[in-house]
Amino acid sequence: MAVPAQADALIDNVNGITLDEDGDVIHFTGLLMTTDGRITKLLGRKDKRPEKLDWRTDMHGKVMLPGFVDAHGHIMDLGFRSMELDLSDTHSLAEAQAKIAAYAEANPERTWILGGGWDQEKWGLGRFPTAAELDAVAGDRPVALTRIDSHAVWVNSAALKAAGITPATKAPPGGRIENGILTDAARLMIMQAVPQPLARERDLAFIQAQQMLLSKGITATADMRTTLDDWLVYRRVADKNLLRIRILSYADSIQTANRAAGGSPSPWLYDDKLKMGGVKLFADGALGSRGACLKAPYADAPKQSGQCLLTDAQLKNLMSRAAMDGFQVAVHAIGDKANAEALDAIEAVSDTYKGDRRWRIEHAQIVDPADLPRFGKGSIIASMQPIHALSDRTMAEARLGPGRLAGAYAWHSMLENKVPLAFGSDYPNDDFNPFHGWVAGFTRADGAGQPFGGWQPQERITREEAWRAYTMGGAYAAFAEDRIGRLAPGLWADFIIVDADPLLATASDLWNMQVEQTWVGGKMMWKRQ
Ligand SMILES: [Zn+2]
Repeated sequence: MAVPAQADALIDNVNGITLDEDGDVIHFTGLLMTTDGRITKLLGRKDKRPEKLDWRTDMHGKVMLPGFVDAHGHIMDLGFRSMELDLSDTHSLAEAQAKIAAYAEANPERTWILGGGWDQEKWGLGRFPTAAELDAVAGDRPVALTRIDSHAVWVNSAALKAAGITPATKAPPGGRIENGILTDAARLMIMQAVPQPLARERDLAFIQAQQMLLSKGITATADMRTTLDDWLVYRRVADKNLLRIRILSYADSIQTANRAAGGSPSPWLYDDKLKMGGVKLFADGALGSRGACLKAPYADAPKQSGQCLLTDAQLKNLMSRAAMDGFQVAVHAIGDKANAEALDAIEAVSDTYKGDRRWRIEHAQIVDPADLPRFGKGSIIASMQPIHALSDRTMAEARLGPGRLAGAYAWHSMLENKVPLAFGSDYPNDDFNPFHGWVAGFTRADGAGQPFGGWQPQERITREEAWRAYTMGGAYAAFAEDRIGRLAPGLWADFIIVDADPLLATASDLWNMQVEQTWVGGKMMWKRQ
């Protein structure tokens, strides 16, 4: 067989598995690439290897897969959270209080105690924790601890004082202040009082996050709320040649998009490792804190139906402004009403902004079954997080009641309606191990098979469909399918080496799959020590 002239590096003797353009599985045993990391050819067992090569390496039969693309994450939040107090492993309020007290004692130099990951549902508390319960363990130092879903913050009296919040203070529209808990729009009142991190602290947080993501086999990730400061971190790190993962950036506002990228999406920068291509908008909050905007009241709070954060006119206006400058629009919508409003707005503006726009709805968690076909009709991308179905199921049942789960976390229905599906994890708000999300996608259960038979198992998709959503789906959702998402000639050699064949593994083995190496652009960027 003729060998292309530019093929000058060979990774040989692999058990290579990827999907092709149509999502069908293909196998190969060697990967030829240019020395700058673009794939030129996949070789089968019988294909002749070129004789003249700049370098070659032998993988001794190990399994090679395309790198995962996480379609929805928050890089800087992940980095900062890894350096702050982490309460995600606490199972009771008392356990959390003990951990807070120990952290305060171990970190006397910190003027604020920051952290997050708590979940009163997991604690079995049946209510939110209070300021007094923090005062009891943290004393006079301000403390601000973000809930697992990032939609609420728990503070003590010192933090309230530092932020100038008194019992007379009114919460801003779209937020609530209650006994030391500030939700959604009210969170900002605290966050503005927290001292800003230094540039070098930001860079350090980024490097931490990058390592964590690469170690789980994620070679590209959407960054779903890039601030101007975040963008400067990515540029600084890349200028020092330390950017090792691909970032598909969605600005936190139209202002940021214009200030960071200019009046149109940025080009692909640093060998396709960074691009600001879109803007993230918010239609509502989260289900856990009852901020998700529902068509009917919450089953467990009959006087509340959540908050739609933007009026129909505001949403359309923001979408138009983004689309006018060529930015892609990603709308956060969790509740069925927020999803319906996002669909209304997209349908209204797509008459004006035609062409391949790839409107995205982030989470699309609770969708009225009547609205599902609208995703397909508009080719609107459903950017969903399979792991949420496991972490949220008890909470979702409580919030919605049994009668309203038909369009909840409805991946199968999305595919039935020909909706482009992109999977991610919404890290650091949930477990970002893509093997966990993959298993959740086709079993609706965890690695231990819980709950037995899967939660709402009619919404399972196949193993290959879930894999596709976590690789090609994420690439397509960011206009990057001509660069990443699978292994094929012309695309970047972004791949991982793992310890077993994921298509033959049991769900439990797939859940526990270990990444041994992570390569981005033909370079090894992470290796298990
Ligand atoms: Zn998010």
